Amino acid sequence: MRIVVLAGGIGGARFLRGLKAAAPDADITVIGNTGDDIHLFGLKVCPDLDTVMYTLGGGINEEQGWGRADETFRVKEELAAYGVGPEWFGLGDRDFATHIVRTQMLSAGYPLSAVTEALCDRWQPGVRLLPMSDDRIETHVAVTLPDSGSATGSGERKAIHFQEYWVRLRASVPAHAVVPVGADQAKPAPGVLEAIAEADVVLFPPSNPVVSVGTILAVPGIREAIAAAGAPVIGLSPIVGDAPVRGMADKVLAAVGVESTAAAVARHYGAARPLSGQEGQERGEGGAGLLHGWLVDSVDAGAVDEVAAAGIRCRAVPLMMTDLDATAAMAREALALAEEVRAS
Ligand code: GDP
Ligand code: CA
Repeated sequence: MRIVVLAGGIGGARFLRGLKAAAPDADITVIGNTGDDIHLFGLKVCPDLDTVMYTLGGGINEEQGWGRADETFRVKEELAAYGVGPEWFGLGDRDFATHIVRTQMLSAGYPLSAVTEALCDRWQPGVRLLPMSDDRIETHVAVTLPDSGSATGSGERKAIHFQEYWVRLRASVPAHAVVPVGADQAKPAPGVLEAIAEADVVLFPPSNPVVSVGTILAVPGIREAIAAAGAPVIGLSPIVGDAPVRGMADKVLAAVGVESTAAAVARHYGAARPLSGQEGQERGEGGAGLLHGWLVDSVDAGAVDEVAAAGIRCRAVPLMMTDLDATAAMAREALALAEEVRAS
């Protein structure tokens, strides 16, 4: 079975660990978000690709969910002693080596996809990890910064890098728009469209719908390829009980006008046309969206009817990735829903 997964960082990586356990013989291609990428200290940092690579390769800091295990911060301290920041982005000594190797290879002319493959030679993640694009794409967030001098509270409106919004400001300022800068000119990385076209199932893990999956879908050609693939597209909600399980996804959902509910996120992705040759096709059911199926957490069982009414097959199952068994069970539910869609 060929499975394609569109993954962000922590939510995507943890789900993938469960998917590998649930489908050990599957051929899994991960299309990773690179909209979070940032240049720091002259180095190219790809947080989401690295989170997937370290998590599946056994190098992740488990409690934190990102960064290396057994990490130290000597380099960061030395940089700070020179007054060189940013101090708000946590790059550890072991992690630095990854960014040095990546930057060195990029400087030598290798595309990011080739660099990622080289890094994965060491980590052996057990999936094929592809960046969504070899072209530079950086998500920016239009925010209003608080203006301490103004009695009216009317602050300065400006666009800042996603990491500054997310990590430095902890999404604490109002966001008006999320823009994947460079996406409109970007091409999918080699292998991305081919993997989608050959997929038996496409999965949206419980990754951030706006700044992870949404950014991948903003690369021209990827959304179209998924809609045309003829494979069931199944998503898992990152929103449980009307709030993100971790992080601040509610803030970026609000910025794109989507409520923080499992049903609203499903409607945001939209209902796909039924698979070709199926009955609904003639009846004109479904729409211009992407999803054939959507899993919500058991606490959101009340949302199932609303999602189904939107033309998306929906089930309520436990969606908390508390351990490998629970996560593998989620992956099995997603694959079972895909079978149900195919058989319907
Ligand atoms: P990031 O790039 O590190 O932010 O990670 P992703 O975009 O891949 O995933 C972030 C999303 O994962 C957040 O919106 C969380 O709500 C979601 N998430 C994290 N843990 C869980 C979990 O155990 N269950 C579910 N359903 N979602 C989760
Ligand atoms: Ca991310």
